[in-house]
Amino acid sequence: MYSNKMKNICILGSTGSIGVNTLDVIRQHPENFRAQTLITNTNTDLLEKQISEFCPDYAIIYNKSAYDGFMTQFSKSGTEILFGYDGLLYVLNNNKPDVFVNAFVGFAGLNPTIQALKSKINIALANKETLVVAGSLIMNLAEKMDVNIIPIDSEHSAIWQCLAGENQNKIRRLILTASGGPFRTKSREELRHVTPAEALKHPNWKMGSKITIDSATLMNKGLEVIEAYWLYNVNKSSIEVVIHPQSIIHSMVEFEDKSIKAQLGVPDMRIPIQYALDFPRRHELDTPAMDFLQFDTLTFEQPDLEKFPCLNLAYEALKSGKTYSAVLNAANEVAVAAFLNHEIKYVDIPVIIESQLENHIPEDAEDFNNLLEIDTRTRESTRHDIVTSFK
Ligand code: MN
Repeated sequence: MYSNKMKNICILGSTGSIGVNTLDVIRQHPENFRAQTLITNTNTDLLEKQISEFCPDYAIIYNKSAYDGFMTQFSKSGTEILFGYDGLLYVLNNNKPDVFVNAFVGFAGLNPTIQALKSKINIALANKETLVVAGSLIMNLAEKMDVNIIPIDSEHSAIWQCLAGENQNKIRRLILTASGGPFRTKSREELRHVTPAEALKHPNWKMGSKITIDSATLMNKGLEVIEAYWLYNVNKSSIEVVIHPQSIIHSMVEFEDKSIKAQLGVPDMRIPIQYALDFPRRHELDTPAMDFLQFDTLTFEQPDLEKFPCLNLAYEALKSGKTYSAVLNAANEVAVAAFLNHEIKYVDIPVIIESQLENHIPEDAEDFNNLLEIDTRTRESTRHDIVTSFK
């Protein structure tokens, strides 16, 4: 783990926000990291630029028509272009990277995580849905294969950093901080009329659209509570959320003696990304240093569960266990897409998710095919609900 050898990095989702930031970390440390495989779903324009700059061994395009279109005009030698999931399996089985960065959005990230674990590749995980949907399956598999799952999510990276050197000690509380999103100060009445464009304006972080909407509903924090539960193996009741609008403290750990460790810094995703790529080593990074005189006030509030019911739904799904979190995730993905598409209102999102949870008959969450079936079924049922009751 402490080796100085150059690390070959495979990035699932290289053209998204986390992928672009990961490539910037690689760009700043050519002596430590190399982009070995870049994977996009559809954004072949940006992929082509990334191929020119980073000369990876492989580039993979997930979407069939995007792949076909790209192959008609791509001519550069030195990078092998592969298609889809089979392409990913080829790389994982034949030319193993040292680190697999999973930065896909949603359920689509789950199977790639499983395949990387089976190939015994350490994972830098940005796709929190992997653990929300299949936490038990994933953590058992990681243990069996003796593979590290290192979080990129800033809160979980903060906890990871706070726990360094503490493995003998018992955790009393994990305290996840939340910015509160763009609607923290809005009234319940005002929330009835907010638009996708307003929800997409996150105060502190620049991210993709799905996670930005999740931040506006606080579902993102709910998913992170579930993610923290699986990563850190603590009691469900000892994971707390506190609103901290400045996003300077990224999260905290309280130990038995009530001593609390916090990890602080300017909000820059490249910090947790870089830490995950070369844990436990740190490297220089061209981010502005924290100026305590500029951020001279750090404040904390209780999350308002009446105004943001999604956080509560996630707590309930975690408490209920089994496949409830898979349903929570699938219903949320569909509801968020419908909101972005102007089909439903912001305040409909938790209503739609709750009805899916209420109708769910829980099943064993250890089996991938079972989870896939529940995911598919929940998506269909959520779509049906939206089309029949909310349009
Ligand atoms: Mn986060």
